[in-house]
Amino acid sequence: EVLVVGSANLDRVIRLDRLPRPGETVLTGDAETGAGGKGANQAVALARLGRRVALRAAVGQDAGGDTLLAGLRRAGVDVSGVRRIEGVPTGEALILLDGDGENSIVVLEGANRWLGPADVGPARPAPAAVLVQCEVPTAAVRAALAVTGPLRILNPAPAQGVDAALLAQVDVLVPNRIELAQLTGRPVTDLDEARAALAALPVDRAVVTLGAVGALVRDGQRYELVPAPAVPVVDTTGAGDCFCATLTSALVDGLPLVEAARWAVVAAALSTRAVGAQGGLPTPGEITELLAR
Ligand code: ADP
Repeated sequence: EVLVVGSANLDRVIRLDRLPRPGETVLTGDAETGAGGKGANQAVALARLGRRVALRAAVGQDAGGDTLLAGLRRAGVDVSGVRRIEGVPTGEALILLDGDGENSIVVLEGANRWLGPADVGPARPAPAAVLVQCEVPTAAVRAALAVTGPLRILNPAPAQGVDAALLAQVDVLVPNRIELAQLTGRPVTDLDEARAALAALPVDRAVVTLGAVGALVRDGQRYELVPAPAVPVVDTTGAGDCFCATLTSALVDGLPLVEAARWAVVAAALSTRAVGAQGGLPTPGEITELLAR
């Protein structure tokens, strides 16, 4: 089993020709609501991959919370550890998408802010892996990574509250290029810089995701670029979550980090074929098929 600790949100996706500049107003009639939050997205992606997965998260005692829990259950995620919090709304994300699929996101934290170390608790039986992101309080992230035994994977997104002590608790770190730059204080605008930044991390197993380029893997002293397959992209929201989930699943299967990243880039590419953070998530069969091409 995999234990995922993180956020659960309602996503309000608003499509625009282009993102507004500061002070600017743009009009659109194109919006839809879906399920999101990095924790929930990664849990649902793992379930789609056929993994047993339990989520530790917090939602409100409101209609949004009901909707999210129902969706998670339908996807096959164990939600017995999801806490409902009275008097606080379920988290919400406002996602602005432009014509090229580029996004700007504001997250209203709501109940996510109330996820505490006690909610993370010990899991029985012990999971094979713990997968955590940073949309919940750092105390909960710390508690999740404090469980000894399972493989500990941190997606430092956003890269807030991530310090050296936290990184010392991580087996595999999976930032995107912005997060890697923030964590290391180095620019990450090309492959050479990405490699230098990975080398500067105190975690010697790390993967930086590079959008349509793919991912650069550091496994000890070995560095390898794993290119993304070229696919028609509808919506990249949640691609990073699908990447983290698939990487985790492949590592639980015992694959080396570079091989796990090959699965993850293909899965993440497939996830861009549909709208929404949890739309387009692939099955193992679909990944195998694209990998073989
Ligand atoms: P985030 O969405 O978290 O910022 P990235 O943009 O790096 O993360 O995307 C995560 C992963 O999703 C990439 O490593 C890649 O595998 C896949 N991906 C993202 N955009 C594309 C794309 N346009 N084509 C193919 N794969 C993509």
